[in-house]
Amino acid sequence: MFTVALTGGIASGKSEVERRFAARGVEIIDADLVAREVIAIGTPALQEIVAAFGSRAIGADGALDRRAMRERVFGDADARKRLETIIHPRVRQALQERATAVCSAYGMLVIPLFVESGEYHWVDRVLVVDVPRSVQLERLLDRDGITPELAESMLDAQATREQRLAIADDVIDNSAELASLDDKVENLHQSYLSLASNKSVR
Ligand code: ATP
Repeated sequence: MFTVALTGGIASGKSEVERRFAARGVEIIDADLVAREVIAIGTPALQEIVAAFGSRAIGADGALDRRAMRERVFGDADARKRLETIIHPRVRQALQERATAVCSAYGMLVIPLFVESGEYHWVDRVLVVDVPRSVQLERLLDRDGITPELAESMLDAQATREQRLAIADDVIDNSAELASLDDKVENLHQSYLSLASNKSVR
């Protein structure tokens, strides 16, 4: 199955791009949703997290206390690494299984932390939604109404624009008005359809 990974920094416009591919019939698999399933109540991943971080990782409802964990790993690189070592490989495996089962001509994985979360050698194309940092900040502030300091620190916690562009096969420049996204998505969609049909006859 031909698979495209869609990534981009926070508030770069991934959801806007994703919606336009979905409207063209492309099956979308959201890594954030898969990550939630992987650590749901009763999963081996959640048990491992409790073994590593103690019962404070769990809320009263028995589910992962995401806020407590965020605070626990914030500023503690070792703890963050331990948590990611439990979660990321499982997410990668689940995404690969889902990608294999896609029914549309090709599938699209939306992986916000693609650069940060490791090896996806089985993905056919990496599509990066790109905007300058200043545009990202402006849209993040507009959308989420947070402080400029928090917005800056959220951007700093992610891979840089250069790191993302370095692994891109395709780039959508989303610095112009929204209306201009449709043509860009349509061009890429046609190209992916063609690449997907070439792959399926190989
Ligand atoms: P996140 O990383 O938080 O999931 P995202 O990458 O999915 O964000 P979007 O939510 O699609 O980003 O876009 C961020 C905000 O910027 C939204 O309010 C969206 O409507 C707006 N936006 C996206 N693209 C454009 C554009 N080309 N022009 C103006 N506004 C835009």
